[in-house]
Amino acid sequence: MYSPEELEKARQAGRVTAEVLEAAMSLVKPGAKLLDIAERIEAMMREKGAEPAFPANLSLNSTAAHYTPPKNDATIVQENDIIKIDIGAHIDGYAGDTAVTICFNKDYGKMTEASQRALEEAIKECKPEARLSDLSDAIENTITSYGYKPVSNLTGHGIERYHLHADPQVPNVKTATNYRLQENQVIAIEPFATDGAGRIKEAEQVFIYMLLKPAAVRNPDARKILDFAQQFNGLPFAERWLPVDSQIKLRIAMKELRERNAIYNYAVLKEIGGGMVSQSEHTVIIQDPPIVTTRI
Ligand code: MN
Ligand code: MN
Repeated sequence: MYSPEELEKARQAGRVTAEVLEAAMSLVKPGAKLLDIAERIEAMMREKGAEPAFPANLSLNSTAAHYTPPKNDATIVQENDIIKIDIGAHIDGYAGDTAVTICFNKDYGKMTEASQRALEEAIKECKPEARLSDLSDAIENTITSYGYKPVSNLTGHGIERYHLHADPQVPNVKTATNYRLQENQVIAIEPFATDGAGRIKEAEQVFIYMLLKPAAVRNPDARKILDFAQQFNGLPFAERWLPVDSQIKLRIAMKELRERNAIYNYAVLKEIGGGMVSQSEHTVIIQDPPIVTTRI
């Protein structure tokens, strides 16, 4: 639970996040390069006095989440792409987390609407002492009413200072729990809708990492990465930001850090049935009425 001063920082961070998302939406169009969009998003956060709370996620089509372009990524937005822009800015560790889906493929307009509407229905349930399960019910009922499936193994989450994925998890499917929301708690609600199997799995690719604990490593590149990673205070960071240019050296260093449990890998997440995926997300302070920090 944040104090009034902390809530003010969370609101400021949410406002920056919302403004940057709005600007980012106009950058995403066929022919645009994902890498340019991601770098622009992160630069805009810094221009507004915040820092990225995590790398800009730009996930295409059946990739549900955790794709941020690596260095030299040449991916271009295509005419028929469904792209999730999921971004967050933080001020002094207090973060906003928001996402929209931009859909150039008319066949998936309804699927995009389904996740958006599910988010709005869940926000309506937010107030002190509300049942968490009522949010999940609203999400699942809304998405299924559109004829799509919620992604059952992706959830929203609590947000605490320098802790992006805090308790509680906010499930996108009906879940038996007695958990009740508390006043001035901050949560991110993020429904995902799909025409696939309704589950995601981890792909081989990893472009986002998080520092878990320091480790004694011999490899100089691994040591350099560990030193560099300290500055994020436990928030996720991009491979693209790392001070090691050689891909081979980077792979070796990251493998060692992973094996020593020093670094957590946020693998790219793909829909297991190869279905298309839409997502919407907002950060909400639990009050009555709720404060959506990432809404302009
Ligand atoms: Mn997010
Ligand atoms: Mn989130």
